[in-house]
This record gives sequence, C-alpha cells and structure tokens, in this order.
Amino acid sequence: MTTLKQIEVRDPFTNEIYQTFLQSSSMEIQLALQNGHDYYQEALGQDISERAKQLQQLATVFLKHQDELATVAAHNMGKRLSEGQNEVAAAANIAHYFADHGAEFLTDKPYQLDGLKAHLTYMATGIVLAVEPWNFPYTQVMRVFAPNFILGNPVILKHAGITAGCAALFESLVAEAGIPNGAFKNLFLDHQQVNGIIADDRVQGVALTGSETAGRQIAAAAGQHLKKSTLELGGSDALIVLGDADIQSAVEGATISRLRNAGQVCTSAKRYIVRREIADAFVEGVQATFTNQIIGDPLDPLTTMAPLSSKSAQRILQEQVETAVSAGAHVLIAGGAVPETNFFLPMLLTNISSENPAFNTEFFGPVAQLYLVDSDEEAIQLANATSYGLAGAVYSQDIAHAQHVAQRMITGQVFINQPSIGVPQLPFGGVKHSGYGREMSNLGIYEFANQKIIVK
Ligand code: NAP
Repeated sequence: MTTLKQIEVRDPFTNEIYQTFLQSSSMEIQLALQNGHDYYQEALGQDISERAKQLQQLATVFLKHQDELATVAAHNMGKRLSEGQNEVAAAANIAHYFADHGAEFLTDKPYQLDGLKAHLTYMATGIVLAVEPWNFPYTQVMRVFAPNFILGNPVILKHAGITAGCAALFESLVAEAGIPNGAFKNLFLDHQQVNGIIADDRVQGVALTGSETAGRQIAAAAGQHLKKSTLELGGSDALIVLGDADIQSAVEGATISRLRNAGQVCTSAKRYIVRREIADAFVEGVQATFTNQIIGDPLDPLTTMAPLSSKSAQRILQEQVETAVSAGAHVLIAGGAVPETNFFLPMLLTNISSENPAFNTEFFGPVAQLYLVDSDEEAIQLANATSYGLAGAVYSQDIAHAQHVAQRMITGQVFINQPSIGVPQLPFGGVKHSGYGREMSNLGIYEFANQKIIVK
C-alpha cells in the first residue's frame, strides 16, 4: 500500500503552516469517478433549468462566504483581502453568467443540406478533470465548473498544492449550495494520480490552467488516451504605448496590470513597448507607482503589495532577474526580493536584447520589461516576437490607430486603452505556447460538449 502524503499549506506572509490535508487515496479517486459517472448519466436526462437554479444558488453562497473565502486565499497564497473579495465576486459573476445564458448557448442550431433539415445539438460527454493554478484559486475553478455543470459534465478538481485550503472550501460551498453529489469533487492528487484519472474511460476531457511545462505533460497524457484537452498557459503580454497615447492612462493601465495580485497574473502587462518620444514621461509615471508600494500583511487594508505565493516563487523570480542582468539588461527601477520574507519589490528592466533569456521568459511577479521603439511596425514585430500569445493592450487616443495595431498582434485577446482582463462575457484563451481552447462565453461551454448533428 502506498503511503499518502501530507499536503502542507504554508502562509506566505508568516511562513508558517496554516493547514494540512491528506493526499487522496485510490479508493477516494475510484469513488469520485463512480459518483461523477453516475451524475453524468443522471444529468443527461435532466432539464438545464434545474442546474441553472443550483448554479445561481452557488453564486449566492459564494457571496455569503466572501470574507471567509478571501481570508483563506490570503493565508494560502498571499492575496490581499480586497483582491480576494473582488475575486469571490468575480467567481459568483461567472456562476450567474452561465446560469443565465447556458440554456441559450445550448439551444439547437439549424443547418441545411440539399433540402434536408439538420440541427446541431449539444450533449454532455462525461467527467472533465480541471487542473488549476493557485493565482486565482476561485475564479479559475469556476471558469471550468460553471459551464460544464450547466452542460451536464461532472468536474473533478485537482488544485495546486499550495491552495489546497481554497479547494476544500470551494467543495464545501458547492455542497452548501445543494449541488448534487458527483457533480463536483475536489481531490488532493499528485501528478501520477492525475495521469491515472486522465486514462480512465469515464473521463472525457482535461482542462489545465498553468505553466508551459505542465501544459506539455498534461497534453501528452491526454493525447495518449485520446482525450480532449484545453490549455490556458502563461504569457508575456505586450502593452504597447503609441506616440499619440494619453500617457497618464497608459501608466495607470501598465502599473495596475503589472502589480495586481503581486504581479502573478497570466495576462499581466509584462512587456511595455513604448514609442521613444514619449518614453521619459511614461517611465517617470511608472517609477512613481512602482516605488510607492506598501508591503505588509495581506489582511491589512493599508498593504498595497502582498508577498509572492511562496519562497520558491520569490527565488525563481530573483534568479530570472539576475540572469537577465548578467545577460545585459539594465535595471531602470530597482527592487527585488526582500530578504527573510517572500516579498518582492517592483522592478523595471530595460536594454533586453533578443538573445537575453528574459526576452522570451514569463516573469511571474512584479517585474516589467521596457522596450523603446521608433515605429508602430517595430512595436508590432516586438510584441509578436515571443513564443507566447495570450493577451495584450494598445494605448492611443486614436481608436482606429490602436485598432490597426491590435489587429496585427498574435494573441487571443487585445484590449484598447485598458489592461486586458478575463470576464465571463468574452472568450478567453491564447495561441502559440500560451495554449489552446477557450474558456468563458459561449465558446467556453462548447469545449467539452458533444456537438452532434441530427439530420432529417
Ligand atoms: P503549474 O506549476 O503548472 O501548476 C498548475 C497546476 O498544474 C497545479 O495544480 C499543479 O499541481 C498542476 N501540475 C503541474 N504539473 C503537472 C503534471 N505534470 N501533472 C499533473 N498536474 C500538474 O503552474 P502554477 O505555478 O501553479 O501557475 C502559474 C502559471 O499558470 C503561470 O505560467 C501563469 O501564467 C499560468 N496561468 C495561466 C492562466 C490562463 O488563463 N492562461 C491563468 C492563470 C495562470 P501541483 O501544484 O501539485 O504541482
């Protein structure tokens, strides 16, 4: 018999163990798969409106427990309380959105074939495994659970080890909302157990949000067993500031985007690509915000910059900065790891050549890169020059000008005059090494649906 591991959740602010959980046993895994499969069979014959009501109830329960959820996130991965409260509201919003629009998205669609009538109908396919990261411990889970629940697909969650407490709380709130056994199950799994679940015939898909490394491994396991996968991976998003931009607005967008969640956001503006003639004013604005952060307890309302999620996150980021500098990057705004803590003060790096490892590396923390350009064409070429393609932003007071640049950016989304965000109304996902598939919106509900044609 294999020994089950203890999963320790360490508070990133105090560095003390906050919670412990026991790894799930193979019996628990088998039970989850059987309950999920039973629920799938039941959901095939059930009306969507029933599930929509239950999902609305989950949104209500989430908001009722908003402070508790935010506090647990603060202790698990260091998120500031107000950011955690906002995340809980965003998760509830996702639940409302799919409860309100799911039936409309899943309505049959007519097709024509040489005088024959056809319609496309949407069916549940079976259990979906959601493998999720710690940085948005509630919305990431809801993005997979809400659309799949409406469709009738049960979801088994494998959350990041460091947010095991968030995962356990999510599961208890699903039960409090009256969502039936089998529709959702959180398991504490190691990577080998994840592979075993992907291989199981009752599982029809795997949705991963995480790093490129995890993406390669999960996609390979899914491919080996002919299972559908979606990959929401990392990014090194460009924020392009054109010569006719409102600089104050660009500075605000650039700094909010790079510093929120202590810089640990997939769609954060990680590369500022700025027209040379306005760069001084832009950097001055960025400096004022970057050097004005108050580090402290994530639960203290005065704190503006929380610790990174773990000691290893801080070490990796510091190493990335040191590698970049030794390869020729200049430090324009100084910061970095605060010794004896998990804090990381914001930094701005520049003079990064295409040979510098930093040029094609995701910095998962408050470190921005600055590139100066002399033309729009140069900005576009630079924006597209990395292996990532998640999101991006363009700033210009001339919308047609910004639109022209946005059109040529090779990413899954571009926002004009505001930082890119994920909202349930819009499809979300990347291209290139940022992954494939879409979450949220009508597209998100189709990823794990059997889109079946009936011809008569
Ligand atoms: P990570 O190390 O890849 O982990 C993500 C999840 O995958 C965790 O649950 C992890 O479990 C699991 N995992 C990793 N390797 C696995 C494997 N071989 N088999 C099974 N499970 C595996 O990523 P992270 O550090 O938590 O998150 C940060 C990354 O996520 C960044 O790159 C960020 O940009 C990306 N992200 C992308 C999006 C998006 O929507 N595109 C959103 C948020 C974050 P363990 O914790 O047990 O290792």
